[in-house]
Amino acid sequence: MSEQETRQPGRTAVVTGAARGIGAAIARRLGRDGFAVAVLDLDEAAGKPVAEEIEAAGGRALAIGVDVADEQAVEAAVARVAAELGAPTVLVNNAGIIRDNLLFKMTAGDWDAVMGVHLRGAFLMSRAAQKYMTEAGWGRIVNLSSTSALGNRGQANYAAAKAGLQGFTKTLAIELGRFGVTVNAIAPGFIETDMTAATAARVGVPFEDFKAAAAKQIPVGRVGRPEDIAATVSFFVREESSFVSGQVIYVAGGPCD
Ligand code: NAP
Repeated sequence: MSEQETRQPGRTAVVTGAARGIGAAIARRLGRDGFAVAVLDLDEAAGKPVAEEIEAAGGRALAIGVDVADEQAVEAAVARVAAELGAPTVLVNNAGIIRDNLLFKMTAGDWDAVMGVHLRGAFLMSRAAQKYMTEAGWGRIVNLSSTSALGNRGQANYAAAKAGLQGFTKTLAIELGRFGVTVNAIAPGFIETDMTAATAARVGVPFEDFKAAAAKQIPVGRVGRPEDIAATVSFFVREESSFVSGQVIYVAGGPCD
């Protein structure tokens, strides 16, 4: 299906952590798909170039600074999206951080920070946005999980959060289905972003070598790009995907279990 056929003018989408990496690619893609896009990130100034790019391409966008783990800030940001761009009926919970360490070295702060952004953040954003979706009788929520949900050395906090997001996804799908709202999760494998560059730095391997080694383990023979994830979001949020809900799709260049 061409991008032209996926266009949905008139709806508003919110993407968290959209200043860079996967979130920025999702925001750009949804802009091209015809959504007005709220580009949420910790730093409003960091999200502005993405919003400007969407507008330069003929779309509508707004950059908002918000910490997704901050209850009041989330309520205010979602209300501002509704007032300035339109009722947010698409939400992509993408904001994420890593605080990797082996269990015996992991601090309670590392644990809480990761749970705060991924789980509390997705909960607060979804709770704020569902009001507009259920009122509209239409909505799409997409949560960013990870192949790390299946277990990954040095990521006890992140793996637990990403596995938690899968249970969160399925539960919201059950609760919100009757309101025309679908809820799905994408679990990416290795995607080339600042986050994977930080992992390479942590283990002391040059990023190019790190990517080449990862690509050898991936059936399609390459690492992922942010656009691979954006294309999957575009599928979940389109009109005709209304019977696809509560699913976790691994976008990893091969099977995962
Ligand atoms: P990234 O390049 O590190 O970008 C993450 C973005 O989230 C940054 O712009 C960051 O802002 C923002 N953010 C962090 N904490 C936030 C908060 N409390 N409130 C609002 N925004 C916040 O990461 P990415 O690689 O694009 O990953 C995006 C998502 O995909 C994450 O959920 C990640 O766990 C998931 N994922 C990534 C991979 C991969 O291989 N890259 C694989 C599986 C899953 P700052 O720049 O200000 O910190």
